[in-house]
Amino acid sequence: MSNKIRKISLLGATGSIGRSTLDIVARFPERYQIVALGGGRNIPELLNLAKRFHPELLAVQEESGADELTRSLKDAGLSIPVVTGQPGAVAAATHPNADMVVAAMVGAVGLEPTYAALQAGKDVALANKESMVMAGRLLNEVAAANHAAILPLDSEHSALWQALNGEPEKGVKKLILTASGGPFREFSMAQMAEVTPEQALCHPRWDMGPKITIDSATMMNKALEIIEARWLFDMVPEKIEVLVHPQSIVHSLVEYLDGSVLAQLGLPDMRLPIAYALSYPERLDLDLPKLNLAETCRLDFFAADERRFPALKLVRQALDKGDSGSIALNAANEIAVERFRRGRIGFLEIAETVARVLAQTEPQKFTTLNEILDFDAGIRQSLSSAGY
Ligand code: MG
Repeated sequence: MSNKIRKISLLGATGSIGRSTLDIVARFPERYQIVALGGGRNIPELLNLAKRFHPELLAVQEESGADELTRSLKDAGLSIPVVTGQPGAVAAATHPNADMVVAAMVGAVGLEPTYAALQAGKDVALANKESMVMAGRLLNEVAAANHAAILPLDSEHSALWQALNGEPEKGVKKLILTASGGPFREFSMAQMAEVTPEQALCHPRWDMGPKITIDSATMMNKALEIIEARWLFDMVPEKIEVLVHPQSIVHSLVEYLDGSVLAQLGLPDMRLPIAYALSYPERLDLDLPKLNLAETCRLDFFAADERRFPALKLVRQALDKGDSGSIALNAANEIAVERFRRGRIGFLEIAETVARVLAQTEPQKFTTLNEILDFDAGIRQSLSSAGY
């Protein structure tokens, strides 16, 4: 594998994970090549990336963006086809020359292209946790049927993957996901009620996009990561726990039946888990700042507080309801986060919205992508008729 160039289709190229992925690709041109790039609305950035990485296909969200990009490419003397919308993202995810897809889109829009990539037999390095939350069982099935692998990019899941490496599954007692606790780790409920979007968008440890940053502040990010871990490692939810660790150095831990605990440590830099997934089973010699434990001095750990961070309780309710519960949790959260960002609801109302939707959700199991997408659309529709 090492002397073969890995050809990558990168979706979500202009986001935080996308930029870190391209940093790794640019450091190892003898190993990686970009064949397709998908982005949202940042057309100037996509143009820059097209000039640097010469993909064979570009995917953007909107027609107007595609027109602008096509004109700019022409002015730059480049002739690269530009496709749009969900069909465009699917075309990039299934590009015939790609052997690996990096799925770094944000939110439920990531599901269809991720599914299509696995169906086409591509290995998927997955940062889009929402697709695993909505359709974990189905994605595992389609991956197995098409001999494709789902490789975790999320730092916690990469840590679990590394700590599980080579160990027999039946020896695992539990998976422990660490959480920084976000910017409001020590806030009272009264303080949290007054939190503004600007405050919620300031994360103490990780530099991430706005949606995941707000999810970190509510700890919904960790709730989604419990579901993600449940499917990535085929682990019953009761065996997945959360531990608050403000320094974000220990990225997660696996406790074994004999009481041994294996952890993965590193500086909080997404290029580490990305490089691990892209180079697996090898490790790249990365010239990045290294962890110095003597300088770090201390590593703190606390139990998670489900009263102040109800997302951690809601996720258990969602998992009890099965597929419909996870989809409802995710859809209601996406909509509530967007509404909070626009200043329409308060910070605590994000979890309240999710709780309300979840209470109205009947347990249901889904076996096809369309059933999942329809149910997701139904939740969003009912929230929008309720004034969201
Ligand atoms: Mg994470």
